[in-house]
Amino acid sequence: MRISHLSSEVSPFAKTGGLGDVAAALPKALAASGHEVDVWMPFHLDAARWFRKRAAWPDTLLSPFRVSILGAEHEVGLLRATLPGTTVAVTFVAHDPLFHRPTIYSPNERGQDDDLWRFCLFVRAAVEAMKRLGRRPQILHTHDWHPALAPMLGAWSSYRDPWFDDVASVLTIHNVGYQGVYGLDQFGVLGLPPETLTGGVVEHAGALNMLKGALVAADMITTVSPTYAWEITTPEGGAGLDGVLRMRAGRLTGILNGIDTHEWDPTHDRYLPAHYSRENLRGKRECRAELCRVAGFEPGDPSMIVGAVGRLVPQKGFDVLFEAAPELIRRGVRIVVLGSGEPALEGSMRLLEAHAPRGFRAFLGYDDRLSHLIQAGADAFVMPSRYEPCGLTQMYAMRYGTVPVVRKTGGLSDSVIGFTGQNAEWATGFHFEDPSPHALAAELLRAQNVFFHRDLWHRLVANGMRADFSWGRSAAAYELVYRRAREVRGLP
Ligand code: ADP
Repeated sequence: MRISHLSSEVSPFAKTGGLGDVAAALPKALAASGHEVDVWMPFHLDAARWFRKRAAWPDTLLSPFRVSILGAEHEVGLLRATLPGTTVAVTFVAHDPLFHRPTIYSPNERGQDDDLWRFCLFVRAAVEAMKRLGRRPQILHTHDWHPALAPMLGAWSSYRDPWFDDVASVLTIHNVGYQGVYGLDQFGVLGLPPETLTGGVVEHAGALNMLKGALVAADMITTVSPTYAWEITTPEGGAGLDGVLRMRAGRLTGILNGIDTHEWDPTHDRYLPAHYSRENLRGKRECRAELCRVAGFEPGDPSMIVGAVGRLVPQKGFDVLFEAAPELIRRGVRIVVLGSGEPALEGSMRLLEAHAPRGFRAFLGYDDRLSHLIQAGADAFVMPSRYEPCGLTQMYAMRYGTVPVVRKTGGLSDSVIGFTGQNAEWATGFHFEDPSPHALAAELLRAQNVFFHRDLWHRLVANGMRADFSWGRSAAAYELVYRRAREVRGLP
């Protein structure tokens, strides 16, 4: 099948989170299954820097052409490279005034959020380029709200633009909390028929809502785990769009993300002081000793060391962990956290460290090497997320023989098999239900109890290390979705 992915971020060129990882890993896996896949993204400043750092530059694909939005003409360029280590083509839409910004989602020079404008230009340019190149995909796969205009063009301008007649669309929701909400006065930017606004299709709660428009328009909708697919159809999890999602439930399915099993492999991880496998865990002990050294704990400390890595935002529930920490430390648990984000949470981390330097260590910032060392060196890995569409770090932890202790939500429910006391043959971690310090502490102390029963703990470690989180499995599920998307459109 010919599949084109449209995403605002694609790793390694420009990335802020899991979306960038998926937008690279899924196309790679689909190409490995024999599909003709390419990826489209804006030429962000981060991408330009990525090439400059390597003394390289993408090829010019077409001479610059003009795209019109609200009657104004914008000249865009098209550059092409491949995803590193693959033959998967990445086409960059270049337009410096809109994409040469300090970060992927920066406001304009007046401090205004003009993302609607930026990403609509990206979609229009990408579609125009596909036409000029004579390359019509059978599946246009868009990620999150930013390229949402693409499925809307497919659904509502086909009577004027027959190009879309043979294109089916798939939308993947990576996080329903980000919807692209703007004033109704911005509707003109989309260039869609007025009925889509008056009929309430792209309007939601008195505003223009890009994700809602795409939800109504897309032929098929996926999200990044089966449990999250259900949660977003409930008022608690739908961030206001649960009604639309219930209406479209027949087209919605959840497919668990995979992980990059090459980048995250304890048998050859370039960031680790020693390597190990399920058969021989000696290297993990060396990684643990190194983590103790870096964290300032005693090297042979027999306590359970709990790691945590992530963005310090309310979604991730670090505040719950920090509230539970004093009690846990008193009970002999050691905690190492790496994260950056909200200043209040960074402050709590500093405070805990000052009060209990031998039990709590905080690392502020983004650090790949340290995140790999925590995954390898810790005994357990905690994720108290309030909601978690998929989550990757719990899967890394299992692959690294580190037992996850997670809140039972979204992808955490789907990827970690909670230990009940009776299922040691297949359990891979621990679950708790309530996002409260009490529930978290109780489950971590339960894990600590198992930790001291070495044989039992090793079974959980081995079960996690045996689990298959590769993309191949998920790619096969996407293939079925693509077939269904063409079917519901009546396309072969
Ligand atoms: P989300 O996409 O919601 O941030 P995921 O678990 O899907 O959460 O992905 C987060 C990714 O970012 C993981 O690869 C994780 O290791 C990485 N990460 C998050 N914070 C940091 C940090 N401070 N340092 C290094 N890596 C981080």
